[in-house]
Amino acid sequence: QLGVNRSTVILAFAELRSLGIIESRSGSGTRVSQYKWGATPKHTPNWKRYAEGGSFLPNVPFLRRIREALNQNPTLVDFASGELSADLAPMDEIASLMRGHHYTSYLGYDNPQGYTPLRQALEKYLVKYRDIQTTESSILITSGSQQSLFLITQCLLSPGDAVAIEDPSYCYSLPMFQSAGLRLFRLPVDRDGVQPEEIRNLYKKHRIKMIFTNPNFQNPTGTVLNDERRNKLLEIAAELGLPIVEDDPYSLTDYAGVPRPPLKSMDTTGSIIYIGSFSKIAASGLRIGWMVAPNSIVERLADARQQMDFGLSVIPQQVAGQFLKSEHFEPHLDRLRMQLLYKRDLLIEALQKELPDLIQFNIPQGGHHLWCKLVPAVNDAKLLEESIKNGVVFVPGSVYGSDSGFVRFTFARAKAEDIGPGIAGFAKALRELIH
Ligand code: PMP
Repeated sequence: QLGVNRSTVILAFAELRSLGIIESRSGSGTRVSQYKWGATPKHTPNWKRYAEGGSFLPNVPFLRRIREALNQNPTLVDFASGELSADLAPMDEIASLMRGHHYTSYLGYDNPQGYTPLRQALEKYLVKYRDIQTTESSILITSGSQQSLFLITQCLLSPGDAVAIEDPSYCYSLPMFQSAGLRLFRLPVDRDGVQPEEIRNLYKKHRIKMIFTNPNFQNPTGTVLNDERRNKLLEIAAELGLPIVEDDPYSLTDYAGVPRPPLKSMDTTGSIIYIGSFSKIAASGLRIGWMVAPNSIVERLADARQQMDFGLSVIPQQVAGQFLKSEHFEPHLDRLRMQLLYKRDLLIEALQKELPDLIQFNIPQGGHHLWCKLVPAVNDAKLLEESIKNGVVFVPGSVYGSDSGFVRFTFARAKAEDIGPGIAGFAKALRELIH
């Protein structure tokens, strides 16, 4: 009797098989393969291990599930994707600008800080629409505001640094912060925006290094930071010498057409890095975002861009610059605001009709999102799956870091005529789980 354990033999066979020394075929057993001793064995790299490598955490499973459901069934009513529907994007205007455009530059590598005519157009845009006095040298063009956030977390902060973020917070920033190894401390958001009082304590206890906020029509809650808190936030940041990252993609969607001035326009101590985007007001696929920051920061981040991608493609930058300067821009914004307001009202009417007893919300005055509390709360995963069965997707609140029992509906993406039927499907799913 040999004292060899059966599982040892199985493991040995598995190893010989993985080295290509033996081959097994079902029905004809195992035999020594054509392997030549001394030759380099051929085997496939362990891709799974590579895929788990690097420093990026995967996105939240719910977001991947929503994307998969939309890929499988594009007819789902989409209350999940935070972007404009095709009819709200200025596609005709952009197409006509592109047809009439003569590419004067030869499309070589450009300045990684961004295409100069676009930065010049933004300089004017920022004064006119955001009350921000700046110069093109303080503007960095990025691939959406997402890349601005990414550059800030990867290049200006280090693993282990503590930052203050909003609770709930923009969902694609959370895994990004975690991948960068940041320690996250949450400031609650209520109907008047983020509560800044806790910042002093966080600074004392955890030496927070930066504050991230989305003060206008916050994603996901749709709230606007009130004046008193704006002053308080600036006062505390100045007192502690802390930078504030002001993420401001939604301000021009103010339905009344009088957007609140940004924190940046009130900043007398140079504490703010301001981030804007084309995505929520024009076309997310152009991938145009911008950052306004002190020159030393812009230079540092532009230098990092040289390692990452040599800067954004010049073509969308030319299109965006032309659109900003064109006579189409302002009428587009007027129409966009009216259409978003119309869709918001359709969503609210549908919710009031279908779920008056089970859902609570504050009505947003701008932006793309409606944040709802479900009473009683139900399980997020079950509600999402049941909703998919009923032809609709939304984003569960826990994705933004809140407790379960909240949902975010985006009303910008769905077609107007689908909003009512979409909410009817959601209501059916919710009632199914409650009863
Ligand atoms: N910040 C906030 C608050 C957002 O809602 C989004 C998009 N959902 C982004 C940043 C990133 O958008 P983009 O990169 O398309 O500008």
